[in-house]
Amino acid sequence: MKDSPTKVVLHPNPKMLLQIAIEPEILQVHGDAPHPGHGVFGEVRCPVCAGRMHGHGWRTRSFFDTMDQGVPVWVHRCICPVCRLTYTLLPAWVHALKRYSMETIRKVLCHRISRGCFSGKLGVQRSLQRSWWSGFLRRMQASGNRPEQAVLLDACHKIGQTMASPPGVWALRRREDLVAWWHSRPPSHQRLPAVVCGRLYQAFRQEAYTQP
Ligand SMILES: [Zn+2]
Repeated sequence: MKDSPTKVVLHPNPKMLLQIAIEPEILQVHGDAPHPGHGVFGEVRCPVCAGRMHGHGWRTRSFFDTMDQGVPVWVHRCICPVCRLTYTLLPAWVHALKRYSMETIRKVLCHRISRGCFSGKLGVQRSLQRSWWSGFLRRMQASGNRPEQAVLLDACHKIGQTMASPPGVWALRRREDLVAWWHSRPPSHQRLPAVVCGRLYQAFRQEAYTQP
């Protein structure tokens, strides 16, 4: 479990996914201990309007780390009182659209590239591995990469949230693009769950996202 760069992933239908890096220990569920306070995330700002977001509830969810180990974590939601956007804060080692760690996804894809088959030892169903693999290949082809083993392996080692997502999910690299998208499709609280993990506010100030 480790930090990954801040990233913003946008789904076209429209579902927005953002990511924030948070100390993993803070969000882990420990027995009957209550969830942490909203303040553990610091001041969370809305990526669209930069308004201060409010806490909007907690729930627990298990994510699979490597070797099929379910890790229960606290998942917190925030809401922007202005845009009515709802965000879910997730640990950065988790993939925003899957219930698996980025490391597991990386291992599955690397195994397929180097061995030419899917692994039976990574705790992920083969049908799921096949689906990840086909999405990864389509993304590689769409970005003009040659399907050579060395090229695929290199991309796999550097894989981030967007590349590990199904085709059709892409990264927003500039705040202006996010704002333009929001204005083009005014979201409602009900239909726009978003995922935030990570130093979002800082990333927006830099107006650059490091996620490939
Ligand atoms: Zn807002």
